[in-house]
Amino acid sequence: MTDTPKSHGRLSISASLIPRDLMTPTPRLKGAWTAKIVTLFPDAFPGVLGESLTGKALQDGLWALETLDLRLFGEGRHRNVDDTPTGGGAGMVLRPDVVARALDEAAKGTNPDRARWPLVYLSPRGRRFSQAKARQWAGAEGLTMLCGRFEGVDQRVIDAYGIEEVSLGDFVLTGGEIAAQAMIDATVRLLPGVLGNQASTEEESFSDGLLEHPQFTRPNDWQGRAVPEVLLSGHHAKIAEWRREQAKALTRERRPDLWQAWAARHGEE
Ligand code: SAH
Repeated sequence: MTDTPKSHGRLSISASLIPRDLMTPTPRLKGAWTAKIVTLFPDAFPGVLGESLTGKALQDGLWALETLDLRLFGEGRHRNVDDTPTGGGAGMVLRPDVVARALDEAAKGTNPDRARWPLVYLSPRGRRFSQAKARQWAGAEGLTMLCGRFEGVDQRVIDAYGIEEVSLGDFVLTGGEIAAQAMIDATVRLLPGVLGNQASTEEESFSDGLLEHPQFTRPNDWQGRAVPEVLLSGHHAKIAEWRREQAKALTRERRPDLWQAWAARHGEE
């Protein structure tokens, strides 16, 4: 995926303060949507984002990914990034001064307007990530994400930098890296040209506030289970109507919250 040496960050401190461009030999289209990730584990990127459609788009320069190794902004000879929680308790907390230095570096060359360049801390305390958020981010120039570890980040740096906290869901991960990749994936696939077939983002789950209809492919008969007859009819209007009804029934059954919002908007009971 990347030719960057694994030793990055340990040996050459000064040189590697420059954000690591993960796909250096590839073209970076001017103004391409860019994710900057502040993390203690830069080797975790691009991770799964380097595969399939997001990976191809990354290689083609349709979007760009930069990591900033938080360790390089650490204190003293050992580059300490964390300390014990003030007031006591288990674990370690990321220091505000260290995080601030990394964020200052990340801010270079980015639009200071947060609407154009969001600054995000992946956090279980944040507002839940959504398709709407992905759409909003895809419409920006890029974003900067701070991945926490241990017990999290000193509150003062979150306040001082006005960082937006966003959660992947109501569970606790050991670090923000997986959450960052999930959110970047959802965002990048909405960028023009990333998915071959643009129409597919319009019909899928959440786009219209409904879950997607069931999907089928060949064989038409599998272990005695036939695909729904209507899908073989070639009658496009009928197929569209069947899918719509399936999407509505599925949403009503599985996600009453989504259904109520959709029904209110469409004037159904
Ligand atoms: N003590 C914290 C959890 C720390 S988990 C608390 O109870 O709120 C360590 C790091 O993992 C966090 O700093 C955050 O960056 C990341 N993380 C954990 N769960 C997450 C979630 N649901 N969404 C996004 N990031 C999460």
